[in-house]
Amino acid sequence: MLAFHVAQLLQAPQGTTRHYTYEVPAEEFTDLSLTRPVRGEVTLINLGRSILADATYESAVRAECGRCLEPAIIDLSGRLQEEFVPTVDVRTGVRLPSVAEDEAFPIDAEHVLHLDEAVRQHLIMALPMQPLCRPDCRGLCVSCGIDLNRGTCDCAHEVADSPFGVLSLLLRNGQAASTSE
Ligand SMILES: [Zn+2]
Ligand SMILES: [Zn+2]
Repeated sequence: MLAFHVAQLLQAPQGTTRHYTYEVPAEEFTDLSLTRPVRGEVTLINLGRSILADATYESAVRAECGRCLEPAIIDLSGRLQEEFVPTVDVRTGVRLPSVAEDEAFPIDAEHVLHLDEAVRQHLIMALPMQPLCRPDCRGLCVSCGIDLNRGTCDCAHEVADSPFGVLSLLLRNGQAASTSE
């Protein structure tokens, strides 16, 4: 659980900061296949009426390579800055008007700031659209399906490397399609 008790910070002068390092077990992010704990540093800053969490995060996720379909471990890291707003006045205990969900995260009635949801959202945003097992993964042959990281085939791949090659390939396929009609 990545949570910070901020009752004191909320009552400290505006601009007061707290700094922490954290580590959360991978299993706590149940909807992500993380392969190692999420680690990072967080600075909490009292902005007067809210708290800004400025945090780094670093972990890795298990995925399928978008080119060769083999398992891949993808490093995830980044920085987040999210605002957290009290739901209860720390001095009077009076309920405060709620803030729109997409504008800020709530600090709960016990003055606990839960950072895990913000980290979870940022980990998901850090996921690449096409994960790769390694940057130079050669992928599968589009003709015969062989994994080109493991072997070679006699299919013509080199034509796809130049734009003219792609064009000639397209033309050839077009001709093949028209002659078969
Ligand atoms: Zn791959
Ligand atoms: Zn092939």
